[in-house]
Amino acid sequence: MAMPEELHFVLVPLVAQGHIIPMVDVARLLAARGPRVSVVTTPVNAARNRATVDGARRAGLAVEFVELPFPCAQLGLPEGVEAIDQMAGLEPAMYLRFFQAIWKIADPLEEYLRALPRRPVCLVVDACNPWTAPVCERLGIPRLVMHCPSAYFQLAVHRLSAHGVYDRVRDDEMAPFEVPEFPVRAVGNKATFRGFFQYPGVEKEYREALDAEATADGLLFNTSRGIEGVFVDGYAVALGKRTWAVGPTCASSSMVNDADAKAGRGNRADVDAGHIVSWLDARPPASVLYVSFGSISQLTAKQLAELARGIEASGRPFVWAIKEAKGDAAVRALLDDEGFEARVKDRGLLVRGWAPQVTILSHPAVSGFLTHCGWNATLEAVSYGVPTLTWPTVADQFCSEQLLVDVLGVGVRSGVKIPAMYLPKEAEGVQVTSREVEKAVAEMMGDGPEGSARRLRANEIAAEARAAMEESGSSHSDLTDMIRYVTDLSKQRSRERDASSMARPSELGEKNQQDAVLPVQMTQVSI
Ligand code: UDP
Repeated sequence: MAMPEELHFVLVPLVAQGHIIPMVDVARLLAARGPRVSVVTTPVNAARNRATVDGARRAGLAVEFVELPFPCAQLGLPEGVEAIDQMAGLEPAMYLRFFQAIWKIADPLEEYLRALPRRPVCLVVDACNPWTAPVCERLGIPRLVMHCPSAYFQLAVHRLSAHGVYDRVRDDEMAPFEVPEFPVRAVGNKATFRGFFQYPGVEKEYREALDAEATADGLLFNTSRGIEGVFVDGYAVALGKRTWAVGPTCASSSMVNDADAKAGRGNRADVDAGHIVSWLDARPPASVLYVSFGSISQLTAKQLAELARGIEASGRPFVWAIKEAKGDAAVRALLDDEGFEARVKDRGLLVRGWAPQVTILSHPAVSGFLTHCGWNATLEAVSYGVPTLTWPTVADQFCSEQLLVDVLGVGVRSGVKIPAMYLPKEAEGVQVTSREVEKAVAEMMGDGPEGSARRLRANEIAAEARAAMEESGSSHSDLTDMIRYVTDLSKQRSRERDASSMARPSELGEKNQQDAVLPVQMTQVSI
C-alpha cells in the first residue's frame, strides 16, 4: 500500500510577498494531509520565507523550498533583486525585464522536474506564472492555477472583458461603468478594475496568462464559500473549470494557534514580535488602530504627511508599518526632524519596515485596520475579526474595498477614488486630507450603533472563516476534493504516457526513461 508521503506536490508562486505567503500556507495545508510539498522559488524569496517553512518542518510536515536561480544579471537587473517589492525606486522599464527574468525560470524548473525520480502529482502554479504551462504539457503533469486576488476581482475582470466593456472605454480610463452580469452592483472605471497584465508592454504575457488558465486542470482560490461563494461559483461556471476555495489560509488552526508562524510570516520583521505584543498588552482591549499598506504600495511623502497628521489628530493608539521610512528621506524627516515620532511616542508604535502583521491583527487590543486592501491583508482582517478603513492603491484592491464595505459590511472608506498614478501631477499623490483621515478613523473605531454593528459582523465573519478551515468546513472539504481529483488525474496521465510510450518509444524524447512511469498510487491519504 502506498504511503501518503509518496504523493508529491510542487508549488510555483509568483516572486512577490503577497503571492508567496499564501502559497506557502497552501504548502503547509497540503503537507498536513500527508503529501510531500516542494515550493519552487529563488534564493532571496526562500530566505525571506524560511522561518515559516522551517517551523512547518519542525512540526513534522514534509515541506521544502527548491531554490532556482533568478537571472538578474542576464537581464540587466541589479543583483539580488528577485521580488516585486524590491523594484521600488527602479525605473519603470525594469519591470519588463523583471517579468522576462521570471519567464526564464521555465528551463531550470523543467530540469528540476525531469531530474526527480518520480513525477509529482501536480504543479500548483500562480496565475501570473503561465510559463509553467508548456513545461507541464511536455511532461504530462497536471497543473492547477491559483489566483492570489479575490474571486470578486477575477469575476469582475472576466465579465468586463467578455462583455467588451474595456474595449468600449479604451481611451477613457475614468469613464464610469457597472460590471455586467455580476452577482452584486459594482461600479468603477478602467483604472479601478484593471486586471493583472492589463498594461501596455505586457500584452504577450497577458495572452499567455489567459491561455494558461484556459488549459489548466483546475483553479484554486484563497477564499471561502462563506466570504465569496457566489463569486467563486460564478467564476467556475464562466471558465467551465473545477474550482476550489481553500482559504482563508491565514485562518487555519495551525496559523491561529502558532505564535511563531504568525510572527515569522513572509519575512523577518524589522521589530521584535515580543516587543509589539508587550506594547499591545499594555493597551486597553479593542483600542488600537493598525496601519499598513502591504509589501509594495507606497504613499507619496505629501500624502503620508496628511495621513500622519490625521492619525495624530484622531487621538487613538496605533501601530504603523511605515516601510517608506526605509527609502524616502522626506518621510524620515517627517518622522524624525519634524518630530512626529516624538510627539506620538506614548501612544504610537512605528515599525520602519516589515511588521509581524498577523501577530498584530490577532491581538485583542487591535480593533481597526487602515489597509491598502491587498487580498491577503483583506483576508487577515476578515479572519481575525478586525474592521477595516479601506485605502486601495491599485488594481484588485478597489475590488477588495467593495467587498469589505458593500458586500461584507465590515469596512469604512477612506475616500480614495483612483490609483494615485492617475492623479494630476500637482496633487502630489494626495487624495485624502488629514481632516478626512481623522473623521474616517473616528467613524471606523467609534462605538456608536454603526461601529458596534460592524464589529459584531466582523466577529461573525471571522468565526465563519475559521470554521471553513476546520475539518468539517467547506475549505477543508474543497482541499480534500482537490487532492483526490489531481491524484486520480495524475494516474490517468501516467496510464496515457505508458500507452503512448509503448506505441512509439523512440519518440518520447524523455531525458529520464524512469520518468515515463508515474508510480504515484494514492490508496491511502490522511484527508
Ligand atoms: N505583510 C506583513 N508585514 C508587513 C507588510 C506585509 O506581514 O509589514 C504581509 C501581510 O500580512 C500579507 C502580505 O504581506 O500577508 C501582503 O500581501 P497583500 O495581498 O496584503 O498585499 P501586497 O503586498 O501584495 O500588496
